[in-house]
Amino acid sequence: MRRRLLTPGPVELHPRALAALSRPQLHHRTEEARRAFLNARAGLKRAFGTEGEVLLLTGSGTLAMEALVLNLFAPGDRVLVPVTGKFSERWAEIALALGLSVDRLDLPWGGPIPPEAVARPGYRGLLLTHSETSTGALNPVGVLARAFRERNPEGLVVADMVTSLLLTQVGLEDLGVDAAASGSQKGLMCPPGLAFAALSPRALEALRPRGYYLNLKRELEAQKEGESAYTPAINLVLAVEAVLEEVLPRLEDHLALKAWQNDLLYRVGEGLGLRPVPEEKSPATTAFYLPEGIPYARVKEAFARRGAVVAGGQGPLKGRILRVSLMGYFDRYDALGVAELFREAWGELGLS
Ligand SMILES: *Cc1c(COP(=O)(O)O)cnc(C)c1O
Repeated sequence: MRRRLLTPGPVELHPRALAALSRPQLHHRTEEARRAFLNARAGLKRAFGTEGEVLLLTGSGTLAMEALVLNLFAPGDRVLVPVTGKFSERWAEIALALGLSVDRLDLPWGGPIPPEAVARPGYRGLLLTHSETSTGALNPVGVLARAFRERNPEGLVVADMVTSLLLTQVGLEDLGVDAAASGSQKGLMCPPGLAFAALSPRALEALRPRGYYLNLKRELEAQKEGESAYTPAINLVLAVEAVLEEVLPRLEDHLALKAWQNDLLYRVGEGLGLRPVPEEKSPATTAFYLPEGIPYARVKEAFARRGAVVAGGQGPLKGRILRVSLMGYFDRYDALGVAELFREAWGELGLS
């Protein structure tokens, strides 16, 4: 039985990505490769909504997060990190590992971040998570960025947009976000392996390159010419290019479909008596608290018997929640099928 990934990354692949990946190996220092690289970069710039630059790095989403912290801040710089889940916690860990002075603002996981909490002076940066995939919460990065910037006019706002890119409206300059990170295996519906570092014009000005492989200034020079400093994951670049070519011309419809699909699963789950984890829901994934006495392993098994892979919780939510996501390639019909599968699995657990 072919197993469907209802996980919030990696995800079911877009057919255009699969087709691109079946091509013979392309050499990266050729005109054809440079054209694809430039197309992918142009598409990503549109997807991130920035007049700045997007760099394609070989690695997973976390790599882009690390590259941004490394190249935008210096050791000792004070940064503020509101922590409401596993991925916002990762920002704090990365900044600490790179020698920054980190003020960690611990708030309830899945809950909102009050704008007053980040309206504090004395910071070089604010590290935010747009869609907190570990809890299913969507944070109002625009509002938070504004509140922070009022108190820190020179400060930089950096956002994890790993599961908001192609899933909800992002737009760096519109939101007041200076730089953002994402990856290929989430809303892009491609395999894992590419990380994206988006830099607004303001972030480009603030760039203080550090490191060797992750030196973004050197990458920028190469990538402006359609190359990268070292061998890129060119096959994945072709996949990203192909998916963007298909999705960007009808982005509004795509975002509307993703929002509808996620709402559909929330309607099913809530109809079965499950309580959502997040207060503000991200279209990237659903997250529900498990009823008392129902071990996650049993839930996972009930889905697995139907050929579906779901996700549990991380950190303090481990064993306590269920996450079902239609972030990958699913159309309206697939989503209705998954909705029914969800009800069936719950029926088997004797809970509906
Ligand atoms: C998946 C994800 C990441 C990156 O994880 P990787 O495993 O490094 O790709 C970062 N932030 C969020 C919100 C994510 O969902």
